[in-house]
Amino acid sequence: MFDKILVANRGEIAARIVTVCRRRGIKTVAVHSEADASAPHVALADEAICIGPPPVRQSYLDQDAILAAAHKTGAQAIHPGYGLLSENAAFARRCDDAGLVFIGPGPDAIDAMGDKARARATAAAAGVPVVPGSDGPVDDDAVAAAIAERIGYPVLVKAAGGGGGIGMQLVQKPGKLDRALASCRDRGASSFGNAAVYLEKYIESPRHIEVQILFDRHGHGVHLFERECTLQRRHQKVIEEAPSPFISKNPALRDGLCEAALAAGRAIGYVNAGTVEFVVGQDGGYYFIEMNTRLQVEHPVTEAITGVDLIGWQIDIAAGAPLTLEQSALTITGNAIECRLYAEDPARSFLPKPGPLPVFAPPVGEGVRVDAGYVAGQEVTPYYDPLLAKLIAHAPDRATATARADAALAAFGLDGATTNRDFVRAVLQDPAFAAADFDTGWLERFAKDRA
Ligand code: ADP
Repeated sequence: MFDKILVANRGEIAARIVTVCRRRGIKTVAVHSEADASAPHVALADEAICIGPPPVRQSYLDQDAILAAAHKTGAQAIHPGYGLLSENAAFARRCDDAGLVFIGPGPDAIDAMGDKARARATAAAAGVPVVPGSDGPVDDDAVAAAIAERIGYPVLVKAAGGGGGIGMQLVQKPGKLDRALASCRDRGASSFGNAAVYLEKYIESPRHIEVQILFDRHGHGVHLFERECTLQRRHQKVIEEAPSPFISKNPALRDGLCEAALAAGRAIGYVNAGTVEFVVGQDGGYYFIEMNTRLQVEHPVTEAITGVDLIGWQIDIAAGAPLTLEQSALTITGNAIECRLYAEDPARSFLPKPGPLPVFAPPVGEGVRVDAGYVAGQEVTPYYDPLLAKLIAHAPDRATATARADAALAAFGLDGATTNRDFVRAVLQDPAFAAADFDTGWLERFAKDRA
């Protein structure tokens, strides 16, 4: 087992990883930018090293500075968290070359799923249903037009290197296809250094449902059921839950989805924690869209309903330990709901709202967990994603989990900050949420109606 782990991230996830390590008696090294000297992940860690100025390119994405910090402190492994370097195969390779353990999958698995056109082909070859679309990237506009005709409009043009909802265009009719192809290629090239694009049929009114998987280095793997992440704005998840209320009404679907996720993992010899994402039509048809080769923001809802410590397992697996979880012993207990609390202004199209946080007092209560990235007196700077905290409520049933989340949000001390708290509470109190009657467009419509 490792004696010392460097956490190459910031905010709530870095604080959480440090906390898990402390619990296991593993020493931690925090790295931070000049803007984050007073952040909780820095205060919690045993050692901290400033790796550069505030912009991520000069600090949290500076691979040389991070590797140097690991060497200087004698860390044996690096946990990348999510975002930042977590899906960077080149960084994972550099860790290997430097004799450091990257806590995550091997670089080849990251590469295999990082190109989304290739990931589709891999999933399809493993027998996992994929959305009807192109076989791999399309560079010829006439070929793209023929594929779009065959699968039928509306279609989505997606950048093969895309992520975070960037580099995706909905095309309703043939006349608009060429422009979408061109703009998607430009966007892919400028944002991800990859101009390849592919086509998918647009599934109307879908839900976004994903499956958590865990594989060890010895070929043993399990799934930890699904998460429902349908409530999104601009393709960014806002409220996530486990289990999915839709799947719980159609339990036969659960087995199919979870088996498909395991098959996708097995197809690439996956090791460590990963998430296989699907769009699910209202008719229950499900289709692979991508695999995230890292820990997800919303992993706590899975931890709540299964009692499994995902970060703990990531560390154990990276250290070579066998995964001792057996599928037949894993069960779902109750319902968990996660709300992402952002420093943003719902009255101004949810623009990030940096500024001081004079009060920051997370609530405590039965079944309530808060993974916080800030402490009172800290400043929310414009350099990073404005996620303040994740609030997770767990209860024996969904209605109680919803009520707990709502009450805990109300009790969160945030005076003086502009946040999306009231917006999230309004969603939790809406009858459509109670009925779990929503699709991926629901939250956007709800926000417009309130504006
Ligand atoms: P990213 O990697 O940018 O997050 P994804 O491929 O995961 O992109 O898609 C993001 C979101 O876009 C999904 O959660 C879903 O809401 C929507 N989406 C993606 N593909 C489709 C599709 N074929 N049909 C309908 N909606 C889709």
